[in-house]
Amino acid sequence: LRHAVSGGDLVARLGGDEFLLLLASHDARATVAALRDRLIRAIAEPLDLGGHQVQVTPSLGVSVYPDDGQDIETLLRHADLAMYTAKERGRNALSFYESGMSDALQRRTVMEAELRQGLARDEFVVHYQPIVDVESGRIVGAEALVRWMHPQHGLTFPDVFVPLCESTGLIRELGARVFEQAARDQARWAAQGHVLRVSVNLSARQLVQPGFLDELRAALGRAGADPRHLQLEITESVLLGRDEALMALLRDIQALGLSIALDDFGTGYSNLAYLQRFPISTLKIDKTFIQSIDANRRVAELIVSMCQLLRLTVVAEGVETHEQLEWVRLQGIDLWQGNLCAQPLPAPALWGLLEQQRPLPWAGPGPEA
Ligand code: C2E
Ligand code: CA
Ligand code: CA
Repeated sequence: LRHAVSGGDLVARLGGDEFLLLLASHDARATVAALRDRLIRAIAEPLDLGGHQVQVTPSLGVSVYPDDGQDIETLLRHADLAMYTAKERGRNALSFYESGMSDALQRRTVMEAELRQGLARDEFVVHYQPIVDVESGRIVGAEALVRWMHPQHGLTFPDVFVPLCESTGLIRELGARVFEQAARDQARWAAQGHVLRVSVNLSARQLVQPGFLDELRAALGRAGADPRHLQLEITESVLLGRDEALMALLRDIQALGLSIALDDFGTGYSNLAYLQRFPISTLKIDKTFIQSIDANRRVAELIVSMCQLLRLTVVAEGVETHEQLEWVRLQGIDLWQGNLCAQPLPAPALWGLLEQQRPLPWAGPGPEA
């Protein structure tokens, strides 16, 4: 950082992974704009940590004296708010402080309190999206997707609250509840004649939580579920740059009987040599590929070939049309899910679908259905 700034500028470490640059300039915006790429490049320089190449991406927040504050406390607080906004915009982003950011923080604080209350009052429910076998057309599994029955706003989707649960650590409690509910539902359906493989989404934070494995085991016991019919979905970002400890944990999860799926395949690094090292049984092709086959057929087909090279079970996500399903079939993909079969449904509605298919395989919502 010192190399990136000029001699008279102050560079300080505030603690942890937070650094402060204090710059003097007559045109702060122009100075920062000119500095931005140099800073990002300086930080992105790969580091060698015990033989592992590690790359860091910064999020930059800027406040300007005197517009954004008259004293150092206010300027620091506003630069911090700007940094959080940059973080939300993704890697390498830079944000200048704007007055609305305090409101956004205020909203986050309110939502965090509501989330805690929601957990205390059991406002979260699990919906299930059917997963269909391409060959037989039968529902053979379901993905558990959490919903929040917010007392004022009603049914609320995970995109709204999961990121905040992740950054506050509440995801541990929420994730544990979703897993246990999914395991209970799986066991109940199986006892009533519908053995489904139920998959549950897992955030990175849950995996690094001490005692995670014991908690899984205990939840399975309480639910009375057969772990062989449960799957955990993780994303590639969880695997990247992680060490042997993660590998061992994934193997322990597998030894419990659970299988592991890689979610949103194709959107991350998709490094095959790398993926092959991990105990993964299923790849879920991200819905963006399925939904862009008209425009990007070759890319979508390349992604499918990559999946098939790894010889894992392949699931196509986000199938919405018969044409997409036909393509899925032609590619030799094993399973699919998407609105063409059903949106995520409350457990009783999924049960209704399962009962319908008892005598006959699911035939698709064609004119005759
Ligand atoms: P995801 O794991 O990729 O889940 C699939 C998302 O695609 C779901 O959104 C689902 O409703 C949606 N979807 C399914 N079929 C179609 C389709 O045909 N077309 C389109 N356009 N979309 C379709 P949802 O339920 O809003 O969940 C969003 C994300 O929230 C999930 O993405 C997952 O990453 C996260 N999430 C959901 N439940 C949990 C949970 O219990 N724990 C954690 N950690 N994350 C969760
Ligand atoms: Ca998923
Ligand atoms: Ca997905």
